[in-house]
Amino acid sequence: MTKTAETVWNNCLAFIQDNISTQAYKTWFEPIVAVKLTDNALSIQVPSQFFYEWLEEHYVQILKVALTRELGSTAKLVYVIRMENTYGNKAPFTEKIPSNQRTSVQSQEVSVPVKNKDPELKNPFVIPGIRNIKIDSQLNSNYNFDNFLEGDSNRLARSAGLAVANKPGGTSFNPLLIFGGVGLGKTHLAHAIGLEIKDKYPDKTVLYITAEKFSQQYADSTRNNTRNDFIHFYQIIDVLIVDDIQLLSGKTGTQDVFFHIFNHLHQIGKQVILTSDKAPVDMVDIEQRLLSRFKWGLSAELAHPDFDTRMAIIKNKLYRDGVEMPDEITTFLAENIKTNIRELEGAIISLIAHSSFNKQEVTLDLAQKIVENYVRNTKREVSIDHIQKVVSDYFQMDVETLQSKTRKRHIVQARQLAMFFAKKYTKASLASIGSQIGKRDHATVLHACRTVDNLFETDKQFRRYVEEIKQKLAN
Ligand code: ADP
Ligand code: MG
Repeated sequence: MTKTAETVWNNCLAFIQDNISTQAYKTWFEPIVAVKLTDNALSIQVPSQFFYEWLEEHYVQILKVALTRELGSTAKLVYVIRMENTYGNKAPFTEKIPSNQRTSVQSQEVSVPVKNKDPELKNPFVIPGIRNIKIDSQLNSNYNFDNFLEGDSNRLARSAGLAVANKPGGTSFNPLLIFGGVGLGKTHLAHAIGLEIKDKYPDKTVLYITAEKFSQQYADSTRNNTRNDFIHFYQIIDVLIVDDIQLLSGKTGTQDVFFHIFNHLHQIGKQVILTSDKAPVDMVDIEQRLLSRFKWGLSAELAHPDFDTRMAIIKNKLYRDGVEMPDEITTFLAENIKTNIRELEGAIISLIAHSSFNKQEVTLDLAQKIVENYVRNTKREVSIDHIQKVVSDYFQMDVETLQSKTRKRHIVQARQLAMFFAKKYTKASLASIGSQIGKRDHATVLHACRTVDNLFETDKQFRRYVEEIKQKLAN
């Protein structure tokens, strides 16, 4: 078979996937496209300069090993950086529409001088009458980088955030769009970037605002005939952070004004940071021209944190609160609350509260009760005991019968099914499964698994058993 860029790359991917975490693989390798193979050089296309730098810094070794396996010791890797997604802020990207073709919406664009320090300027954050041009950033100092713990799930977003904080407006991550599910740290990270910028560049005007508040302000401004002041105000910001932009969905007026503000800021090299609970492709009722702006910079996802990150977050929280908790409990929390860091924190807080109000020790039992409030149908770890119980119940026999030495066919089958599911759903070795299911040896378990596989393929009735038991185990 002749080698193509694709086959070579797929083999590399298989090797890499086996050697790094799933999350890292998804983040850094799935987006890569193999584009060309010439002699011993494979060209791969990466989405941005940043991506390329990251790969070089963190994965060059494994890439080298993988590629050498495929193409021999003279193998070379060539990166092709796909530029359409990234834009240097100096690049001429604006669509120029001849004035006679402008739509009515676009013709409302107001061009204002940069840094308008006109004392008439009305600042929606300042009580009328007080002439104070210094803008309160609305940043929460608790949401900083120090306590935003790093993990595979947030590495890209976090490092992009740091890069932006080091050089606001000066990287290709403009806008920086942070997206991810509820409670995964979008707001925290957005504040952290803002705080870091304030720290490094005290003269820069940073403003954090939720999309909701932005919409309200805009609505007020149209009602009070101060739309231009509103726009002026936003156009003098150096770093604009808009949280939860999915909330602009359906609000065409606000989207329109935001579009103009965005264009203005972007054009003069100001930084825009956005968060959303969805990736741009999944946003609904947001105008296409705005969506396309969102895609100019970098979209970085905050994924679900892995176990280690969850543990680190719990430990850090306890440490900051000056509370100690047995490892058994922290592990239990980290194992059971997986998809929302806010809930993880909530569970810790309730645990502490319960134990201090009721003057009782934090026990695993209490932790279980509290976790149940957060995660409905908490999946318990399937144990071999549980599997034997479910299988014997299914065949209406007791566990002793299932384990007995009898050769009666239906009992043998039940036993084999229990072994099969134990292999499938637990990490136990064949030997350990055998010893727990009627003191059999590993060869018997292996034979059982093969028999079940065979019968599953050939026997309809048996297949139904497998499927129904699987259902029961999933409940
Ligand atoms: P979102 O805006 O995505 O809904 P938040 O930013 O409000 O989520 O985060 C929810 C909670 O989880 C906050 O209290 C935040 O401090 C905490 N949190 C999120 N990510 C991290 C992290 N990586 N390290 C520490 N705490 C985190
Ligand atoms: Mg938020």
